[in-house]
Amino acid sequence: MARYTGPSCKLCRREGKKLFLKGARCSSQKCAMEKRPNIPGEHGSGKGFRKRLSDYGVHLREKQKVRRIYGVLEKQFRRYFAIAAKKSGVTGDNLLQLLETRLDNVVYRMGFAPSRKAARQIVRHGHICVNEKKVDIPSYQVRAEDEISVKENKQQIPLIQEALEAATEIDAIEWFQVDKDHLSGKILNIPKRDQIPLDVDERLIVEYYSK
Ligand code: SF4
Repeated sequence: MARYTGPSCKLCRREGKKLFLKGARCSSQKCAMEKRPNIPGEHGSGKGFRKRLSDYGVHLREKQKVRRIYGVLEKQFRRYFAIAAKKSGVTGDNLLQLLETRLDNVVYRMGFAPSRKAARQIVRHGHICVNEKKVDIPSYQVRAEDEISVKENKQQIPLIQEALEAATEIDAIEWFQVDKDHLSGKILNIPKRDQIPLDVDERLIVEYYSK
């Protein structure tokens, strides 16, 4: 299945929740969820547009929400779930850990990109190093002690600079440390569930795939 290239805001409207897919715009009055929070499409307008979901629908929507937040295709997502289920510990926690430690997510969380989508581009263009070696694979899994950095000759890119200025929540995240002056960061530990700022119920996803 090809990657979704349509409007990001439509995905938030579909899920009925802000997924923060577009950087600064998401926190502004321009956010589509502020102006038109209805489901997109001809059946999405009017009163009572958000129907009560079936049990299956609730599970499906939670899975879609997480998949869309991290920008992962269905096939990749299933693979993450399979790996998570094989690992020891709680499957839901393992799944979020795997998604959270993707290099594109880490670049976004560290404030080097305004969104995960932009982070994916930055990684693909070869602007990011892990332990001083260029890594251009967005799905690359970082590990504890890894050092992530923006290449020295790419640090002045306005998109990166502006993202870093706007990133106000970096210090609240405990599982890595960011050096804003050198545009680098160190992974202190693989995040535990309570260190992942994500308002989702991952148990619903585990149940969805276990049915
Ligand atoms: Fe979602 Fe951001 Fe668009 Fe708002 S601006 S609808 S949060 S992608």
